[in-house]
Amino acid sequence: MDFGDTEDVARFRRRLRDWLADNVIVPEPGEPEPMFLKRWHQVLYRGGWVGLAWPKEYGGQELGNVYDVVLNEEVGAADAPDAPRIGYLGRALLQWGTDEQKDRYLPGLLNGDDFWCQGFSEPEAGSDLANIATRATPGEGGYRITGQKVWSTYADYADHCLLLARTGPADGRHKGISAFVVAMDAPGVRIRPIVAITGESEFSEIFLDEVAVPEAARIGVEGDGWPIAMMTVAYERGAADVGYLSKFGAALQELRAQSDLDDPAVCTELGRLEVHYRVLGQHVRRRLQERESSDALPGPEMSVDKILMTSVDQALHGAALRLAGPAALSGQVNPEWLRRYLYGRAASIYGGSEQVQLNIIAQRLLGLPR
Ligand SMILES: Cc1cc2nc3c(=O)[nH]c(=O)nc-3n(C[C@H](O)[C@H](O)[C@H](O)COP(=O)(O)OP(=O)(O)OC[C@H]3O[C@@H](n4cnc5c(N)ncnc54)[C@H](O)[C@@H]3O)c2cc1C
Repeated sequence: MDFGDTEDVARFRRRLRDWLADNVIVPEPGEPEPMFLKRWHQVLYRGGWVGLAWPKEYGGQELGNVYDVVLNEEVGAADAPDAPRIGYLGRALLQWGTDEQKDRYLPGLLNGDDFWCQGFSEPEAGSDLANIATRATPGEGGYRITGQKVWSTYADYADHCLLLARTGPADGRHKGISAFVVAMDAPGVRIRPIVAITGESEFSEIFLDEVAVPEAARIGVEGDGWPIAMMTVAYERGAADVGYLSKFGAALQELRAQSDLDDPAVCTELGRLEVHYRVLGQHVRRRLQERESSDALPGPEMSVDKILMTSVDQALHGAALRLAGPAALSGQVNPEWLRRYLYGRAASIYGGSEQVQLNIIAQRLLGLPR
């Protein structure tokens, strides 16, 4: 397989590089990160760089998936903010949504006007997601949802939540789970931010008390939400689908710019990281090309991407902290690297923990016994 750019891709890359040279934005003083990322998403959308592989019908451009990798690579190389993380939530709607739901939700997701969060995890359901207890009770014209979600990223800024709730028996495990779009300003929704080790509150608890949701907000067939959940988390484990490839590229640029390149030990460390990052990039590109040629939906193989993504994240930010010296550990110099290092520790948890990814690889890809 040829990993080089085709002529069209090379032209796209040049055009994007030129555009990025003039259009990268920086946060306003005091601007919360999600709002900054939303603004950046809108700038990218207006520039014609979002939804590259999505159907034109819903605002996309129907280019191949590989263009998303190029977007990530160039955004990272320009030291720009992360590429938007829309893919993993939008794909479920694209696959299972009705035409009305796609018309209603996809344009805002794509152009960045609507902010989304993911309401899957619960206090007793993380790795064991089939254990969710939040319940959607059918009623007149829809459902009443009651329960609790936890660790929902940017829930306090979100307009909509892709939420899993049980519509079948309490002990039904993965059967009898349904997927809903819940408006975050609906009566009965309460959000309580959680402060993380970084001192920030990226994620929140969501409490739902008899939240009325119309039937039209249920995605797919009642009780058949499990494949929707699995497809969403599979996309979430792809470094390009969540924009993390761009994040790592930008961090590498920054690290290189700050480092003493006359020191051979520093150069060795940077070289190792560069190789690590490029292996991830090539892997993601090959994965997306394979998916494109087979039309296959992502599955257990995405756990390999997640493991690779985690290893780049933790190696990169661990090295950045080491190179910055002992004072960086207390945040006295360059506190941003400490923040990113601490955030990198979560990489082996979010989107499914490292142990769970290894189980998936062992059992579902390698056929090893449980
Ligand atoms: C930064 C961040 C953002 C997140 N954002 C979201 C979000 O937007 N929406 C959302 O729904 N969730 C989100 N999550 C939650 C995330 O999906 C869960 O934290 C994750 O799935 C692990 O679940 P848990 O926290 O309940 O841990 P547990 O499932 O309780 O796991 C605890 C430990 O036990 C291990 N373990 C569990 N089961 C097994 C097993 N079968 N074999 C081996 N080891 C096992 C795990 O690896 C882990 O080390 C986020 C988490 C983080 C850290």
